[in-house]
Amino acid sequence: MSNYETLFEKAKASHGHVCPGIVLGTRLSIAGLRELGIDPEKPIHNLIVYMEIDRCGTDAVQAITGCSLGHRSLKHKDFGKFAATFVNTDTGKAVRVSIHEKNRAEHDKLDIKEVIKLLAKIPEDEILKIEKVQITIPKEDQPGFPVGKAVCSKCGEQISDNRHIVKDGNVLCRNCAGGSYYTVIE
Ligand SMILES: [Zn+2]
Ligand SMILES: [Zn+2]
Repeated sequence: MSNYETLFEKAKASHGHVCPGIVLGTRLSIAGLRELGIDPEKPIHNLIVYMEIDRCGTDAVQAITGCSLGHRSLKHKDFGKFAATFVNTDTGKAVRVSIHEKNRAEHDKLDIKEVIKLLAKIPEDEILKIEKVQITIPKEDQPGFPVGKAVCSKCGEQISDNRHIVKDGNVLCRNCAGGSYYTVIE
């Protein structure tokens, strides 16, 4: 099997179904890793990926790179864009790869199975945009021991990695500081 097929199988197994998103996520990962000189066939320990979307393709990137939220090697930037920035933590080199499907309008007219086949072999420059970028990863975002442990003065819960807010001299978690995504009902 070629490199693409091996990696695509990995993405497919992890995601659970075949869709254009995992095809594109596979292509995105292959390009990002290649640009950073990282071999996707070997275990990867020197990579952090900033993923700009939380859809199908993200599973492909996770499966192929092995990066995960739990290892702090996967960062979610909720930008709604099918793009990812790959950072080689040994060299500091970074590359942002985004899906730039030049003939999207034409592809949309095709049957989904045809699209999946087409996207797998279309030349990279017709589907990806690759940019060399510079990125500084703050210490509190890096893997390793948590930094800046704090306790919320309102709910008493612990907050790691300097995610707390200081308001009028009081330490608050982001829920208590306002704009929480949930409401406690019981
Ligand atoms: Zn999918
Ligand atoms: Zn709180």
